Amino acid sequence: MNAPLEPGLYIVATPIGNLGDLSPRAADILSRADVVAVEDSRVTAGLLRHIGVKRPMQPYHDHNGEGVRPGLIARMATESVALVSDAGTPLISDPGYKLVRDARAAGHLVVTIPGPCAAVAALTLAGLPTDRFLFCGFLPSKEKARADAITEIAGIRATLVLYESGPRLSACLTALAAGLGDREAAVTREISKKFEEAVTGTLSSLAARYADGGPRGEIAIVVAPPGDPEPARIEDADEALAEALTRLPVSKAAGEVARAFGLDRKTLYARAMALKSG
Ligand code: SAM
Repeated sequence: MNAPLEPGLYIVATPIGNLGDLSPRAADILSRADVVAVEDSRVTAGLLRHIGVKRPMQPYHDHNGEGVRPGLIARMATESVALVSDAGTPLISDPGYKLVRDARAAGHLVVTIPGPCAAVAALTLAGLPTDRFLFCGFLPSKEKARADAITEIAGIRATLVLYESGPRLSACLTALAAGLGDREAAVTREISKKFEEAVTGTLSSLAARYADGGPRGEIAIVVAPPGDPEPARIEDADEALAEALTRLPVSKAAGEVARAFGLDRKTLYARAMALKSG
């Protein structure tokens, strides 16, 4: 075996479908770790087989995390613990953040080995703005909770990235169209696998396309940011201006309302004078 790793926690990203995407560094860390914390040992056993190594595995998932975490943290004092999830980057819609938090609190080495992540891969396929994006993970599956979650993100000026399953895809797209407006979007599927695709269109056209049943496989949805708001017209500011004039002298009222509406101060001053005299 190669030289042992320094004790601590190694967060290792693994492929989201194509085993060729496992980085040489990830393979090296996995082959040298004293123990690999895994979501599902059958899934990770397949990955370890692919790189020709056998390592001890410790299941670590949402249902046993509380019980297992202290033992893993204690082991990090003298051993190297690699954390993987079934696919992609641990912690991204997957368990792990409490392990990182507690490892750091205990003063252990924490290292990340970056790699595939479906959210970022979906963004690269969608052809939508990438300068600001919000990762929303899975929306709630119940209708009301999902609509509430969508209302919460509707005003955010960023591209949205969501994970979804095939059977819920159409309902999710319909709810997104209702709550966000009919924005441009992309449904990306089976990224890095044989049937990788990205289907683009408006949210409602995509909902219609998948209405007869969602496609198979793993899906990430990308939704364009909201369009630019309509520029305010001078008439829109009348009410605010009249209210401001009850509290402030004309020039100050014009300045306050100009800032709030993004309008020209001089124009608003003239308007305020007209309002006052008429
Ligand atoms: N940690 C993973 C990552 O870094 O992307 C995500 C884990 S989350 C439990 C699994 C979800 O990610 C799937 O249900 C799907 O929405 C999305 N996903 C995973 N692999 C994908 C792929 N190859 N193509 C599209 N979406 C994928």
